[in-house]
Amino acid sequence: MATPTSELTKAMTLVLDTNAHAGGEAATEAPFKPTLAGMSRERLRDAMAAAGVPEKQLRMRVIQLWRWLYISGATSFDQMTDISKETRTALEALYTLDRPEIVAEQVSVDGTRKWLLRLPKRGHEARAPEIETVYIPDNDRGTLCISSQVGCTLTCSFCHTGTQRLVRNLEASEIVGQILLARDRIGDWPGAKRPDDDGLLPSTDRKITNVVLMGMGEPLYNFDNVREAIDIASDGEGLSLSKRRITLSTSGVVPEIARWGELSGTMLAISLHAVRDELRDELVPINKKYPIKELLEACRTYPGASNAKRITFEYVMLRGVNDSLADAKALVRLLAGIPAKINLIPFNPWPGSRYECSDWETIERFAEVVNKAGYASPVRTPRGRDILAACGQLRSESVRLRARDRSEPAASAKSPDAA
Ligand code: SAH
Ligand code: SF4
Repeated sequence: MATPTSELTKAMTLVLDTNAHAGGEAATEAPFKPTLAGMSRERLRDAMAAAGVPEKQLRMRVIQLWRWLYISGATSFDQMTDISKETRTALEALYTLDRPEIVAEQVSVDGTRKWLLRLPKRGHEARAPEIETVYIPDNDRGTLCISSQVGCTLTCSFCHTGTQRLVRNLEASEIVGQILLARDRIGDWPGAKRPDDDGLLPSTDRKITNVVLMGMGEPLYNFDNVREAIDIASDGEGLSLSKRRITLSTSGVVPEIARWGELSGTMLAISLHAVRDELRDELVPINKKYPIKELLEACRTYPGASNAKRITFEYVMLRGVNDSLADAKALVRLLAGIPAKINLIPFNPWPGSRYECSDWETIERFAEVVNKAGYASPVRTPRGRDILAACGQLRSESVRLRARDRSEPAASAKSPDAA
């Protein structure tokens, strides 16, 4: 499954900051101002109160700011013409409208775009952490794959992200910021200019029609921030992404699955990858804590699951590991009675990975068994492999912190001066 060299040479890379790996020291010298872009209404309200906006104006100002941020995609306070100059100046003194900083942007020959993004460094962090976000255009839809953590604390043996050294939770605004940034770069705001490369864009009005939490990290280990971000992204008066077009993928954090369904209600995808506990323990080690039976029980009772709202089961095709016909048959037996879709994912190799992708014939034969059992079009075409943007290939160069320095709760984002 090596990537042909011609593809590699045709992919475009735009390195926007060649000092990226110096650790972002320059950014830390100026006094840090939090960004309003990506904040919830409550946080915007608190932020404006802290900037001296009178109490009686707050409600209206939140409505105005919300529209500027999430309908117009404003990147400068000057655009906010219905907000008084005085208020804009007060806000600008304390805040920015920054998105995560782009370190590099790559456009694959198939139109997939990948951004390496740098986040503001927190007090205890030796260097600014980096994440990746991927945009996958098709003719009739545009899917944005976003990250929920820097790296991942789990260590699935076939996943590149699991080998990354730095791990921390993203704040809600850093999750929403990925959507804002992607819309900036593909000109997906009213009246915005499209990129002047030849990258594919869908024919839909909105160029991002779907969002999947399938980038770096285990979203259910960052529950509150992911939930806050999804509430902002799906708000009908702003970014307006329907929850039916937002999918959270989990490796199987069983106790959080029902809670996610009740509190957020997005579509759900499960990284199953094996039909026997012994093998799943090896591929997806969280299985040792929450084995297949418990995981499937949580799926059976997932709030809102129905034939119209099926759960996706992801199954990575690993040569000689989980790709036999017996596995395929066991898979359909296992999922009987669950409103399910099956997504077969050809394994995407990464430097140093110990697996190989199943060959195409094996995948087709496996798919046939799955198809015959009534599950349609299950093979996920790998996208953006030439720029290492495909599933499981994401890994920034950020280094791992000691466990006690990890995953600070995002409460610091609440108060503008604490961040
Ligand atoms: N942590 C979450 C979401 C991110 S991973 C999860 O595990 O579900 C998104 C999907 O990519 C998961 O199904 C994951 O198992 C799959 N994946 C990881 N590494 C892969 C690789 N090298 N090739 C193909 N798919 C991979
Ligand atoms: Fe983490 Fe998902 Fe990768 Fe497993 S597959 S290491 S849970 S990102």
